[in-house]
Amino acid sequence: MRTGSLPPGSVVRAPGRANLIGEHTDHTDGLVLPVAIDRTVRLTVEVSGGDRIRLTSAQAPGVVDVAADGSEVPADGWGRYVAAVAAELTGLGRDPVGLTGALDSDLPQGCGLSSSAALEVVVGTALCLAAGFGLEPLQLAAACRRAEHRAVGVPSGIMDQAASILGRRGQAVLLDCGTLEHRTVPLPADHALLLIDSGVRRQLETSGYAERSRELAAALPVLGGRRPLEVDPAELDDLLADVDAVPARRLRHVVTENARVGRVVAALEAGDLVTVGRCFAEGHASLRDDYEVSIPELDGLVDLAGEAGATAARMTGGGFGGAIVALVPVDRADDVAAEVVDGARARWPQREVVAHRCSAVDGAGLLT
Ligand code: ADP
Ligand code: MG
Repeated sequence: MRTGSLPPGSVVRAPGRANLIGEHTDHTDGLVLPVAIDRTVRLTVEVSGGDRIRLTSAQAPGVVDVAADGSEVPADGWGRYVAAVAAELTGLGRDPVGLTGALDSDLPQGCGLSSSAALEVVVGTALCLAAGFGLEPLQLAAACRRAEHRAVGVPSGIMDQAASILGRRGQAVLLDCGTLEHRTVPLPADHALLLIDSGVRRQLETSGYAERSRELAAALPVLGGRRPLEVDPAELDDLLADVDAVPARRLRHVVTENARVGRVVAALEAGDLVTVGRCFAEGHASLRDDYEVSIPELDGLVDLAGEAGATAARMTGGGFGGAIVALVPVDRADDVAAEVVDGARARWPQREVVAHRCSAVDGAGLLT
């Protein structure tokens, strides 16, 4: 059995992510533009010499103790992610090298910053290092994505895991979810990233997403096999003329959203933040009116951020709750955050609205 290099005291880290734009585009092989953020899951870890994976977490009770080949699946809890990642890597040929470690995280859970993907990626990275098992970044991302499905039955896209692995300091990651082609896109150095959590948890997520997907699928045949990203929004009126109103709106969102990703990338590269702001506003309106996944709290947070001086703001993540993302001039970032949070608390006293000021960081790896 092969053992790799993971000396005692090694620390592996994996960041969470925020999606700048490209929402509900991944399931139809479209474009997304996530950022790996400086909120991370860290794992202090060493090779144990046995064939068990034993982990604790500062954020969760108990000890996870599973077979290093992932063959034992806990009935519930965060150990399911650990076992599922191990099982996926075993399927790819990783030797069942055990490890012992302690997790710690400053990435809030359940508010759409993808703590589950960061957990999968940190465990996957450590398991690969422990066994001297080399995988291409996107192979690891795909294994972690399958692990999420295996662990909790959520058939999500590859964006979250890919962002946690491919992220670069000061950059966003443009990813084509169909071809998996990707490249980095510079973020404005004089702007900070604000993520403002509405405090509303995504209760409708599973049923709501499935319903949207079904409605979208009903409209897709009019594309004659083209991906939505291959369609010019100017074609939509003709294409959708005979499509029922609801499926038509779902497809309108996906086609225009792919186009907006392209426009945001071009604008970021040209330093044209006015256009970025306009695209974010259009993207939010499209999620609210055409895809219908926003909620009043997210609409309100976007308005408050604009009034407080954000350059660009929109809801981020799947919707039905979660957070907004805003680009804000660095020297105004703390003031804008405070103003939005105060305004939101005045409107919704029962909500725990929290602002996270973030920056773009490198993807997962070993801390030296
Ligand atoms: P999100 O990915 O949006 O944060 P999820 O519900 O998909 O929300 O994932 C949250 C789950 O991930 C938690 O319930 C827990 O099982 C697991 N998790 C995330 N971070 C940690 C951590 N630091 N320690 C243990 N489990 C974690
Ligand atoms: Mg998750």
